[in-house]
Amino acid sequence: MSILRFHAIKESLAYKPIKIEATERQSVLFGKNVFNENTMRQYLTKDAFVGVMNAVQFGKKIDRNIADQVASSMKDWALSKGVTHYTHWFQPLTGSTAEKHDAFFETIGGGMAIEKFGGSQLVQQEPDASSFPSGGIRNTFEARGYTAWDPTSPAFIYGTTLCIPTIFVAYTGEALDYKTPLLRALHAVDDAATAVCKYFDKNVKKVTSSLGWEQEYFLIDKMLAASRPDITMTGRTLLGHSSAKGQQLDDHYFGSIPNRALNFMRDLETECMLLGIPVKTRHNEVAPNQFELAPIFEEANLAVDHNSLLMDIMGRVASHHNFKVLLHEKPFAGVSGSGKHNNWSLSTDTGINLLAPGKTPMSSLQFLTFFINTIKAVHENEALLRATIASAGNDHRLGANEAPPAIISVFIGGQLTKVLEELEGVTKGKLSPQEKTELKLNVVGKIPDVLLDNTDRNRTSPFAFTGNKFEFRAVGSTANCGNPMTVLNTIVAKQLTDFKKEVDILINKKDLKKDEAVFNVLREYIKSTKAILFDGNSYGEAWEKEAKRRGLSNNKTTPEALKAKISKKSISLFEEMNVMSEIETKARYEIEVEAYIKHIQIESRVLGDIARNHIVPTAVKYQNILIENVRGLKEIFEEKYQGVAKEQINLIEEISNHIEGINVNVVKMIAERKSANNFIDIEERAEAYSKKVRALFDDIRYHCDKLELLVDDELWPLTKYRELLFTR
Ligand code: ADP
Ligand code: MG
Repeated sequence: MSILRFHAIKESLAYKPIKIEATERQSVLFGKNVFNENTMRQYLTKDAFVGVMNAVQFGKKIDRNIADQVASSMKDWALSKGVTHYTHWFQPLTGSTAEKHDAFFETIGGGMAIEKFGGSQLVQQEPDASSFPSGGIRNTFEARGYTAWDPTSPAFIYGTTLCIPTIFVAYTGEALDYKTPLLRALHAVDDAATAVCKYFDKNVKKVTSSLGWEQEYFLIDKMLAASRPDITMTGRTLLGHSSAKGQQLDDHYFGSIPNRALNFMRDLETECMLLGIPVKTRHNEVAPNQFELAPIFEEANLAVDHNSLLMDIMGRVASHHNFKVLLHEKPFAGVSGSGKHNNWSLSTDTGINLLAPGKTPMSSLQFLTFFINTIKAVHENEALLRATIASAGNDHRLGANEAPPAIISVFIGGQLTKVLEELEGVTKGKLSPQEKTELKLNVVGKIPDVLLDNTDRNRTSPFAFTGNKFEFRAVGSTANCGNPMTVLNTIVAKQLTDFKKEVDILINKKDLKKDEAVFNVLREYIKSTKAILFDGNSYGEAWEKEAKRRGLSNNKTTPEALKAKISKKSISLFEEMNVMSEIETKARYEIEVEAYIKHIQIESRVLGDIARNHIVPTAVKYQNILIENVRGLKEIFEEKYQGVAKEQINLIEEISNHIEGINVNVVKMIAERKSANNFIDIEERAEAYSKKVRALFDDIRYHCDKLELLVDDELWPLTKYRELLFTR
């Protein structure tokens, strides 16, 4: 094993960065491998083009004849680019993307063959659903599932395969993927937001939800990563003493990007450009060997697809540069973990960002309406929002001593807080002309200026307003953004629907003017949602206490947090908004609880294995060397040896103590695992894995890490933190 470690270090030091060839300008590369609007204009007949655009923009159905034409043109385009296969590309609930490739090639008898791709193959495929998680839907219903074309996300070419983004559903119609509920949520928020927009502008026909994600990741030398069984099996280090230098000096953040990493990024960016992923920002992150990549924001469904695609191609490009990408939320103890900020906003087909104040008082009131409704949606559903980002990996960030905390709160900054305070004083019922003028000119009308010099930034908040968007920062780096985006858009859709009802009642029953009614409802919202607003430091214990007093939930582990997903309130929310049926909601819950159990189970097995089969034997080996040494000293110094060999004897004893510590805890962990596995009920099993099995990880790690400091470096089998984090 130690041989592997030193071999890996030698190899990684000898690595010569690959030369990156100059490419065309990014603007030229952009979307070259995408069947986008531009390509469709060239390849499709007018009818087909209009058909697809109507589907994209207005959700219209594409008829069979049009689908045939689109398929045929897609095939021609793909063949012209050397493509041989096609696949439906989807996002099952495993967390990765799935593909099943079929060749265009078909025989037609007489020893002849052609390339064929028809509408039916474009529109629908039947991958075997039985090997994907279904959370019981499969048992209740049929095993079969199918994928269906999502024309709102354009087909793309990856390698020599034409990939067609699709949804994945059971034959009985239940969603088995991330995309299906997301599309339903986007539809719900479009309907609800468009209806509210009509108070302000009758011309609005559609509201689109946007997402700009920021992907954090670690880049580790491939050989070094491969030398660690924990990284290979779990994507993170389960043990390892922190290196003397970590991120204390803050010298990595925004520092110059190491050459080899830069080459990887350039290659990755080229791939992204070809696939139409508009990546724009790249920089070093806080921890050594940690980086971030962010695109220009896009329509949410497309952005989610692009992030899933990105996570996939990152791994492939990294391998080419002898790197392994670690997307795990916490690959290394003691240095920052990785997240994926989800920047979110809503905009109209008339080109207005509803989360940016406009130029006129009326458009600023529209902004306030969406701003306050979002706050209220988060307030009403904070536990559900926390649940959507819960995973075994993200537990290391949320609820551990890292940003952001497990408590969901909203940061809006001092200036907007003041605006809300003023609005709280709005008169109940009808407003006098003076009050209206005053509000419009001096409160609402001043918002654009207020925001202009709003340099308020709070890095500790899990959900922050950042000038023209909300930034959901608690999302984990491995997450499929479809999950948080589904929930965020659903809760906002529900909130806007309720808002519209309340305003309409005031208009119709109380005879209030539109703006008066809006002011009245918003005033009450401001009063009732104060608990969720927090501008202070979200990390400290003080906030935990304060949040508890305010009645906010603080679910630190995944099993606790996930429960909010199947509360009566959440189930009826998803049903009412037509996002998920009760069966779908419960199935997802089950899948996520099971995924949690499996993660901890695997980590526990790997940790037990490394501790006992790698660490203990190494410690014994070194101990034997010390014992030999003491024997020799005894021979030479005779009765005086005890003084001379004092340190060695202490060390021998210390090593024994740690070996004991490891063995006792590993035995305990195995017993806990066994008894956890005996629970039939998955909630009980998850609880046992969280409270009993995982609880022992730290003790085992503690003794292993102590041994790392005691045992001769030459013998140590596992590549150390300093080697993983500082070899470039
Ligand atoms: P940070 O300071 O948080 O690192 P960046 O500017 O690096 O912010 O990233 C912000 C992200 O937010 C980018 O992906 C950007 O495209 C996205 N973004 C900007 N405006 C909007 C918007 N209106 N809606 C959604 N996302 C947006
Ligand atoms: Mg950010």
